[in-house]
Amino acid sequence: MAKYTGPKCKLCRREGMKLFLKGIRCETKCTFEKRPKPPGTRKRFRGKLSDYGVQLREKQKVRRIYGVLEKQFRRYIVKAGQMKGVKGENLLSLLERRVDNVVYRLGFCSSRSFARQVVKHGLIKVNGKKVDIPSYSVKPDDIIEVKEKAKNKKTFLEFKESFEENRVPKWLNLNKKGLRGTVISLPTREDISINIEEQLIIEFYSR
Ligand code: SF4
Repeated sequence: MAKYTGPKCKLCRREGMKLFLKGIRCETKCTFEKRPKPPGTRKRFRGKLSDYGVQLREKQKVRRIYGVLEKQFRRYIVKAGQMKGVKGENLLSLLERRVDNVVYRLGFCSSRSFARQVVKHGLIKVNGKKVDIPSYSVKPDDIIEVKEKAKNKKTFLEFKESFEENRVPKWLNLNKKGLRGTVISLPTREDISINIEEQLIIEFYSR
């Protein structure tokens, strides 16, 4: 599947907030903190955007956070509408359940894009079976773990030293020593602390 390969920091500047797309670097050397203005020569202010513009920006922001392309994002919108409950919350829940996001949330990798690579390289198992599709959706009681052979890789060893377990969301449980996580329940809106106005996204696609 294709993916965005352009400058990541530019995306944060475009959306007017840190999207944490570069892992550790986002904590230490963030470009957005030095240059928060949107890219391009013309000054643009969020306050001047039309309703459509605000909805569009919110949609783009969420797509970029989770690293999902437009076509796939539309599929999530359709699926969220077919589920019971509030469509916007369903959308966020579906995005959170992606296995690449779960690998990131469990702290196995420092960014979602890196987690995506790790999954694609076949280094992650779900319930004992290799899963190499980043969009794979986890469900309660699933066990997500790093393959035995990969556990001693530098990437994962670094994680063991630096990752704070209290960063793991309530819907997941982490066994840090075993590089293993369990899905306790489906993620709810309260579990997703990113500043997102999901209703704007639903309005965007309802036009
Ligand atoms: Fe965004 Fe990270 Fe770049 Fe900062 S360092 S602008 S949070 S991608």
